[in-house]
Amino acid sequence: MALRNENRQLVYTVKELCRMCYTCVRECPAKAIRIFNGQAEVIAERCIGCGNCIKVCSQDAKVFLQSRQEVRALLSTNSKVAAIIAPSFPAEFSEVKNHQVFVGMIKALGFDFVFEVGFGADLVALEYKKLLDNAKGGYISSDCPAIVSFINYYHPTLTENLAPIVSPMISMSRVVKAKLGDDTKIVFIGPCIAKKEESDEIDFALTFRELRTMLEHDEITADSVAPAEFDPPTAGKGAIFPISRGLTQTMNLCDDMLEGNVIVAEGRKGFQDAIKEFEEGHLKNHYLELLCCEGCIMGPGMSPDGKRFERRTYITSYVQKKVSPQQITQWDNDLKEYSNINLSRKFGANDKRMALPSNDDINRVLASMGKFTFRDHLNCGACGYETCMEHAVAIVEGLAEVEMCLPYTIEELHDTIKDLAVTNEKLAQVQQALKHSEKLAHMGQLSAGIAHELNNPLGIILMYSNILLDEMEEQNPLKSDLQLISHQASRCKKIVSGLLNFARKNQIKAEAVELKKLVDDSLLSVIVPDNIKTEVVFTNPKIKAILDYEMMIQLLSNLLKNAVEAMPTGGNIVLELKETDNDVIILVKDSGVGIADENKDKLFTPFFTTKGIGQGTGLGLATIYGIVKMHKGKIEVESNSIPSSGPTGTTFIITIPKEMDKILN
Ligand code: ADP
Repeated sequence: MALRNENRQLVYTVKELCRMCYTCVRECPAKAIRIFNGQAEVIAERCIGCGNCIKVCSQDAKVFLQSRQEVRALLSTNSKVAAIIAPSFPAEFSEVKNHQVFVGMIKALGFDFVFEVGFGADLVALEYKKLLDNAKGGYISSDCPAIVSFINYYHPTLTENLAPIVSPMISMSRVVKAKLGDDTKIVFIGPCIAKKEESDEIDFALTFRELRTMLEHDEITADSVAPAEFDPPTAGKGAIFPISRGLTQTMNLCDDMLEGNVIVAEGRKGFQDAIKEFEEGHLKNHYLELLCCEGCIMGPGMSPDGKRFERRTYITSYVQKKVSPQQITQWDNDLKEYSNINLSRKFGANDKRMALPSNDDINRVLASMGKFTFRDHLNCGACGYETCMEHAVAIVEGLAEVEMCLPYTIEELHDTIKDLAVTNEKLAQVQQALKHSEKLAHMGQLSAGIAHELNNPLGIILMYSNILLDEMEEQNPLKSDLQLISHQASRCKKIVSGLLNFARKNQIKAEAVELKKLVDDSLLSVIVPDNIKTEVVFTNPKIKAILDYEMMIQLLSNLLKNAVEAMPTGGNIVLELKETDNDVIILVKDSGVGIADENKDKLFTPFFTTKGIGQGTGLGLATIYGIVKMHKGKIEVESNSIPSSGPTGTTFIITIPKEMDKILN
């Protein structure tokens, strides 16, 4: 007897439906689910076909291999096709009023014969009884194909403990072939997915869910068919097989169970615990009856959401109806007739255990999830693994991803949110600065236009008023008027020059300038009252940069003038010189009144002033802005004008690139 194809994909993930809950990872006893890019993939060669992942997936993202098309094709041939029906059918088709109607429905699909696998279970139970009467213990039941694969793959040292007896399905297929001939095609119909791969002795295995779909498709209902009996030989006690302890009950092993020689374990955790204890040698002389599901009636090929104990009642009531004295006689005869069928089977280990990764590798992965000591191991299970250690091992084995760790991912998310907030704030500042500089650039264009147009007429006024002044006699009463014209025209000329500076329309005369000297000279160009202390701070007196000396003197004296005017009752001015690899930085700090927040945006706008009429032109900072921009630099201001929120005062920070090429390009 051979396996069909152990690497055939029995269960798939529908990627669009998978929602990263990792429940399938948690429920898979075979570590056959790999998470890749957040999506769960079933690894065909590790899957044992238990179907746990299908049962637990709330999103219906796991589907199993469908065999309906192949069965349809088989039914359309001239071959004799027999359906062998698993004994859990009364639990699935409880709405069908009796088994004869059910058999009629299957025949309506085109099957020539319909047999009960329960009879195969009766024969198998007899074999088990013989085996256990002789050996008592040390065996593991081999009727559940998922359990067989689990042991062969992951506990290969126990393969020799698998009872060397075929499953009821194979037993029944041999009965059918003995009765109808080897050319009979056999389709198993039952609650199990693993059956699809169990053996090449059957042609196809359908689940009850697939059977329902086929019946619905062909519109076959209980009312539309002629009832028929199962083809003999029919099941006796074997019909009880699909409920938990079914095999032991079929064997009449209840006494042994009381003595404790038989251990029945089922469900994902139960069967794994029993195998582990058996392997550790605690259950040496026991017989383990193991089922992946909680009885075959809860198999993944049954319709979802069925109630376990209600399903049991359907099975027991079917069996009760069956065991009439007349049928028991017939059954005994059938058992005798088929007692010579060979039901033995050999198993071969197929070790798929993974080598445990090195401690270094595990620790490296744990560290990448922020787990450095045992206290960091929360073992919350959100990743689908019971412990952080198991999760780390799975990551090294390529089955899992770091992002599956919920506490780690939440922490990462918090960090990302914080980073995003900082980036957003910076972005808002940059946007604000951009808006501001765009506004200033527009103003610059306007100012440049006006200044250009005024410059020539002003020059002429100034020139002719000066010529007239030179030619006019001292005593001429008009001389003072002419002086006024000349004076005001010069003032206008200065304003125009300020505007041209702001509009960056002046030429730079670049030269290497020592900053310390520049600052000292600028201090000499401003009248600083006695109640104001000035100080120049620097680490390197030789800091140099390529600058326009005259423009920079104008810039610094404008700043110093403003600083002085901001300290009517005295204070301090500190000029600080710094440098980085590429830039020189000049800070002009005062301890004056500060600048109100609402004015900070308008500072560099031409004609913005808070000083009284005739006192300020509002061109000082606009000129400075133009000069800084002509030097490819930047100007920033920090200021506090509210005494209650700390010391008041203003600092202008001017950053200018050191190198000539940066200025000229
Ligand atoms: P003006 O000095 O003619 O007003 P500016 O362009 O030089 O023109 O300055 C514009 C405005 O900026 C000033 O009116 C003042 O309100 C504010 N300002 C400039 N420098 C300082 C400073 N150091 N401290 C406080 N306010 C200042």
